[in-house]
Amino acid sequence: MYGAGTRSFRPAADGPAHPVVPFSDASSDEVSSDPRLREANEQLVVAALRQQELAEEARRQSAQMDALLASLHEGVVVIDRAGRILLLNPAAREIFGLPDSDTTPPDSLQRHLDLLDLSGAPLGPDEWPGSRALRGERFSDSEHLLMRAGAAPRRITFSGSAIRNDAAEVVRAVLVCRDVTELRELERQQEEYVALISHDLRNPLAAILVTADHLQMMLTAKGLEAEAARAQLLIRGAKQMSSMIQELLESTLLETGAMELHRVPTDLVRLVTDLTVQLSPNEDRVRVEVESPEASAPVCVDPQRLERAVANLISNALKYSAAPAPVVLRVERTGNEAILSVIDQGVGIPVRELPFLFDRFYRVQKATSVQGLGLGLYIARQIVEAHGGRIWAESAEGHGSTLRIALPLG
Ligand code: ADP
Repeated sequence: MYGAGTRSFRPAADGPAHPVVPFSDASSDEVSSDPRLREANEQLVVAALRQQELAEEARRQSAQMDALLASLHEGVVVIDRAGRILLLNPAAREIFGLPDSDTTPPDSLQRHLDLLDLSGAPLGPDEWPGSRALRGERFSDSEHLLMRAGAAPRRITFSGSAIRNDAAEVVRAVLVCRDVTELRELERQQEEYVALISHDLRNPLAAILVTADHLQMMLTAKGLEAEAARAQLLIRGAKQMSSMIQELLESTLLETGAMELHRVPTDLVRLVTDLTVQLSPNEDRVRVEVESPEASAPVCVDPQRLERAVANLISNALKYSAAPAPVVLRVERTGNEAILSVIDQGVGIPVRELPFLFDRFYRVQKATSVQGLGLGLYIARQIVEAHGGRIWAESAEGHGSTLRIALPLG
C-alpha cells in the first residue's frame, strides 16, 4: 500500500512505548541486599530508558520526514530494485495522476507512467528514469512527456540517484520530479513575444539609422558642427538599441536550439587581431591590445559566431573598465586547447556572482547603472559550448576581470 500520506521506507520506530519497569527475577529484598544484582538491575533500567529515548527520537524523525515530504512541491518517489514503489509523497501522486487512496498496489511505477521523450517517442526500458537511477546513474532535470488518459500531455522533469548498501550495491532509487508544463508554456510565449517585438522593431530602427547618418553628413557638409554632433548622438543611441535587439533575437534563437555552425579551419590569433581592427573607431579602440606569445592557434570554428562571442567579451571589458586602462587580449596554447583571455582592469565581479554570470538575463547587482540586458555572456557561452569549448571568468570586486575561452585545437 502506498496511498496514505507519505510513507517513509526507513524502519518504523517500534521501540517500547510503555513506561520502563525495572526487571529482575530476584525479589526486591534480594536485589537490595546483593550489590551485583543491584548493579545489574540498574544497568537494565538504564538500557531500557535509552531504548525508549531512541524509539521516541526515531518516531520524531519519522514524523518530521513525513511532514517534510508532504510539504514539498516536488514529487518524491522511492523504488526498490524491481521498480516497486516504497514511498510516494502527495505531490508525486498528484503529478502522476495516481489515485489518492490506500489501495493502489505497490507494483512497478513504470506500469503507472506512460512516458515519452520530448519528440513524442516512447522511452525505451533503459531510458526510463527509474531504470537509469537503479543503474547507478545520477541525473538532474531530465525532461519527458507524461501521457494521461483523456488529458493533454504534461512536461515532467526527473532527477534521480541510487541508494546503495554497505557493499555499495544499488538497493533503491530516489526520483524527484516536477511538473514544468505551465513554466514551459510561459517560456514559449516569452520567446514568441521577444522574437515578434524585436523583429518589428528592427525595420523602423534601420530607417532611423539611415536617416540620422544622412542628416549628420548634410549637417557636417554645411559646417554645422554642433548640430552634426547631436545627429551623432542619435546614431549612437540607435546603434545601441539595434545591438540590444540583436542580442534578444540571438538569445531567442539559441534558446530554441536553432544555432547552426559552419565550421572552417581558423587561426584564433588572426581572428582576434582582425576583430580589434573592426572595432568602431573611437577612444575605446586604442585601449585594446593583442598580446599573443603564439604566432598562431589553429581551431576549427564558425568564425562569425565566434567573433560574436569574443566581441561580447571585448565590449564588456571596455564597458566595465574606464579609459585609459588597457584591455588585453591574449591567445595561448596549452595542451590540446587554445585559450583566449580578455583581461581588463575595471570594476571586477564579486566572487559570489561568478557562478551566475553566464545565465540568461543575469546582471551583477552593482552593474545596473551600466546599460545592458544580461545577454552578452549568455550568448558567448552558448556559442563557445556549441564549439565544444569552455568559458569562465576570474575576478574579484575592484580588481579587474579576466574572461577566458578555451577551444579545442584543430
Ligand atoms: P550586460 O549586457 O549586462 O553587460 P552580459 O551578459 O554581457 O550582460 O554580462 C553580465 C554581467 O556580468 C554584466 O551585467 C556585468 O555586471 C558583468 N560583467 C561582464 N563582464 C564584465 C567585466 N569585464 N567586468 C565587470 N563585470 C562584468
